[in-house]
Amino acid sequence: MNLVRDRDRMVEQHIIRRGIQDKTVARAMRIVPREMFVDPGFEEFAYEDAPLSIGQGQTISQPFIVALMIEKSDLDAGDKVLEVGTGSGYAAAVASRIARHVYTVERHGALAHQARERFARLGYGNIDVRIGDGSKGWLKAAPFDAIIVSAGAPEVPPSLKEQLDLGGRLIIPVGPNDEQRLKRITRTGADAFEEEDLGGVFFVPLIGEDAWTATHPLYTPAARTERTPAQLIADTAETFSSVDDENFTRLFDRFADSRIVLLGESTHGTAEFYHARAAISRHLIERHGFNLIAVEADWPDAAAIDRLVAGREPSQARPFGRFPTWMWQNEEFIGFVRWMRAENIRRQASRADAIRFHGLDLYNMTESIRMVIDYLDRVSPDAAAVARERYGCLSPWQTNPVTYGRAILTDAFQSCEDAVSQQCKELLTRSLGESEDNDGFLDATQSARLLAAAERYYRIMYYGGSKAWNLRDTYMAETVEHLLDFHGPNAKMIVWAHNSHIGDARFADMAAARDEINLGQLCRQRFDGMTSLIGCGTHSGEVLAASEWDGQAEKKRINPALAESYEYLCHQAGKERFFLDFDRNQDLRAGLVDQRLQRFIGVIYRPETERVSHYMLTSLPQQYDAFLWFDETHALTPLYRQQAAGGNPETFPFGP
Ligand code: SAM
Repeated sequence: MNLVRDRDRMVEQHIIRRGIQDKTVARAMRIVPREMFVDPGFEEFAYEDAPLSIGQGQTISQPFIVALMIEKSDLDAGDKVLEVGTGSGYAAAVASRIARHVYTVERHGALAHQARERFARLGYGNIDVRIGDGSKGWLKAAPFDAIIVSAGAPEVPPSLKEQLDLGGRLIIPVGPNDEQRLKRITRTGADAFEEEDLGGVFFVPLIGEDAWTATHPLYTPAARTERTPAQLIADTAETFSSVDDENFTRLFDRFADSRIVLLGESTHGTAEFYHARAAISRHLIERHGFNLIAVEADWPDAAAIDRLVAGREPSQARPFGRFPTWMWQNEEFIGFVRWMRAENIRRQASRADAIRFHGLDLYNMTESIRMVIDYLDRVSPDAAAVARERYGCLSPWQTNPVTYGRAILTDAFQSCEDAVSQQCKELLTRSLGESEDNDGFLDATQSARLLAAAERYYRIMYYGGSKAWNLRDTYMAETVEHLLDFHGPNAKMIVWAHNSHIGDARFADMAAARDEINLGQLCRQRFDGMTSLIGCGTHSGEVLAASEWDGQAEKKRINPALAESYEYLCHQAGKERFFLDFDRNQDLRAGLVDQRLQRFIGVIYRPETERVSHYMLTSLPQQYDAFLWFDETHALTPLYRQQAAGGNPETFPFGP
């Protein structure tokens, strides 16, 4: 292989002879080693005039099209350029050899990281890469002399036009997949633009808020009409026989570059979901540097587990004693706690940082108050006395907080809002260095935040509507943010919570009909390009759930899924266990995008009224990045059954 000769031949045959006249473009393409931008093993094809696969279902653009777009953007040595759709990084690299600085945005974290490494290896220091939705441009770096979009949009995104400097050029493919036209838009005045048509092209879709959203009325990938949704599922399903197999855990290597991986569950009582989440978490921790687990549980209860797995004194005698106890007092979860403990012992021996376990929810007021006061008792007894006084306001409601909202409407009781928010503010202004006890400080500040959020939650809950739900999920998202801040830039988090918190609410009736937002949506919005949302679902089997709030856990049969549901389609695909990747399979995404029912079983399951109480209209491939399927599932094993047979419930989870 003589790659330098191949490169010269490519420029001669595919660039100059096909009409590219700009000598600076030809020169730049002779300099940039295109073979470094293709996957290993494909170097010999790098100089053919064809797009090549670069993983994540994406392509490196054909050399001629890269040359054409750069020529038409009329680059000068002093120009600042934005490229949307970094992909392999090749086009940005070529542009960087002509212009002063190139900013480039890519929605796939893995591709962005890879491109960044390639630029570093080549010593191209004038390129900045960002992970995110480039249909919104790069506001902080605007205005640009040129913007090149390497993926096709339905219309010209308004933010991109706005981010052009006066005289700036935007080159962008526009239109439905089979009728894309390459356009050049030139800014001729504050509100004036000229548009030229540069001919027909074929690019992968620009997927983003100001581009294709897959429900866009013009989005019609050919495959959508050819295969039924169940066939699409069967064709793209990545099957596995057991969650303990490498075949299963390796499926999750594709999320290695995410900062937050959120793992859902379609019930709160299915053993397979716990096993799967434990296996995925172990793999991401062992192989990909994840170090935090955050779950849908209250801070103080999770803090007791965190201390247990770190080998410290328990902070609470019996965590998770509140309904629904089985969500964490179950054998499947305890197995994972044991693994965390063993992993931390191993880490201690090699002086590595421990993996941490935290709670995102806001219900346990009593223990939260205790955590704040315990900490202040240790560092500042005077401040502890003030905190006792302030939290005293909540004491009539601690055991039954749902009555708080109504009670403070009468004159007999005063609101605790000022007291708890003042306490929270004061604690947050204390310095972390005040004591050596970093974890005590974290426990105290998170507990104070919990109490401030819980006070508001119970106050607004009385009025019904979406406000209380939204407050709870916003609180969880803020906790995710605080934890990532606290644990530093290398922290990578795995979240375990119900599908209703994890599946992006914007693509479910929760947003349209109930104005609800949720944790998955907020993580996507706050950690653009660094969040992966993975749902779990099932067709039938057994589940552990109660019939009413505060009721006993019962093993219940799950009705087979309704015919209008996504679950039914998955069942029809005829495979026992599989994984669907909506990001890598655009045909699957397009085929499933139209709304259907999805089943949500919480701590309560009422099979008799299932259609109304447990199903909701959603768009599955927009709610999640991936979906994990277990056709038939089994109920969790609650610990108290064992305990009734002779064990000691008082020892959970610290006993043998
Ligand atoms: N310029 C690239 C090169 O030289 O290899 C090829 C780009 S490829 C044809 C299109 C890229 O656009 C894909 O990597 C895709 O992930 C990315 N993309 C699609 N929608 C995007 C968006 N909204 N923001 C950023 N990147 C996006």
